[in-house]
Amino acid sequence: MKIQMVDLLGQYQKIKPEIDAAMQNVIDSSTFIKGPKVTEFELALANYLKVNHVVACGNGTDALQIALMALGLERGDEVIIPTFTYVATAEVIALLGLTPILVDVNPDTFCIDVNQIESKISSRSKAIIPVHLFGQSADMESILLLAKKFNLYVIEDNAQAIGARYTFSYGAVKYTGTMGDIGTTSFFPSKNLGCFGDGGAITTDNTELAEKIRMICNHGQKVQYHHDCIGVNSRLDSIQAAILLVKLPYLDEYNLARQSAAINYNELLKDLNEVVCPAKDVQSTHVYHQYTLKLKGSLGSKRNQLRGYLKENGIPTMVYYPLPLHLQNAYKSWCSNVDEFPVANQLSNQVISFPMHTQLDEMIQSYIVKHLKEFCRN
Ligand SMILES: *Cc1c(COP(=O)(O)O)cnc(C)c1O
Repeated sequence: MKIQMVDLLGQYQKIKPEIDAAMQNVIDSSTFIKGPKVTEFELALANYLKVNHVVACGNGTDALQIALMALGLERGDEVIIPTFTYVATAEVIALLGLTPILVDVNPDTFCIDVNQIESKISSRSKAIIPVHLFGQSADMESILLLAKKFNLYVIEDNAQAIGARYTFSYGAVKYTGTMGDIGTTSFFPSKNLGCFGDGGAITTDNTELAEKIRMICNHGQKVQYHHDCIGVNSRLDSIQAAILLVKLPYLDEYNLARQSAAINYNELLKDLNEVVCPAKDVQSTHVYHQYTLKLKGSLGSKRNQLRGYLKENGIPTMVYYPLPLHLQNAYKSWCSNVDEFPVANQLSNQVISFPMHTQLDEMIQSYIVKHLKEFCRN
């Protein structure tokens, strides 16, 4: 049996009749763009997330860009982001001529280190983009307090954590992506809620912002051929929306399957001193978009050999992410002092992600861990 990082085919096969019928319906109706399925999906997702508005768009990167455009940020305005993240967050800031302010991350949760945000706030700071990395929420309670104190917008990059829930100390429970001013997500096939191509969405409780976002997604128009602001062309197509409508009711089940797989990995790895299993923030559920270990001590310096050994045994692994933003060729000019980010520097050398998906079975997990342990013993 072939071991995969993600098993999209296995997941599809379980719901193939439903998916195939939904796709065929769109083809038969020929409403490929802006069809009724898109609106239906937006409403279904809003209902699931308990948020007032969902605007579907082309992908998760567009979602971030459109969110920043909707907030009316101007050239030179500063946006605070974690340096240990996927590149999309940085890219859109650069494209819009905004100034990114990088912050190191928490060594346990890998999310932005809230204790280091305040010292980075200036009179030009306008927004914070926490990334709910690998499937659990950033420390939103602290972030929202800071945002309130310094009058900053909060855009949650929820591409990796859809379906995760966050509990505030006063008891309220919210889905990730619905706590800040705007949330953005991606339906890239391997994400926790994936479609069969590109897709994304923007969430907000603010009706005025939602209207602006919808306009920007559609060339800045509300009335056809009347363009009131600069927009983009970013839409979810109807076939993707129809697929997502079928898959959304399975999202909780999918996330539970990921959680069981994570619990099983944790159990199998509990006696192995050379690795640190993913830490779980007490206020957030974890939907394990990735199962990411930290390699300790001498194993850390043998990451490549370990990956090679596992690969020889048919076990794929990935490194998310081998370089933090401040060390990327495209973005290193944003960083004047590499030593400012000791945690991200260390994590990028230390992390390894294991196969994690909805179809992972315990025998495969045992096989993977057996080989990890073998490598450690030799
Ligand atoms: C996947 C991802 C994105 C971008 O989503 P696309 O749909 O691929 O454009 C943005 N941010 C994070 C953290 C992601 O993981």
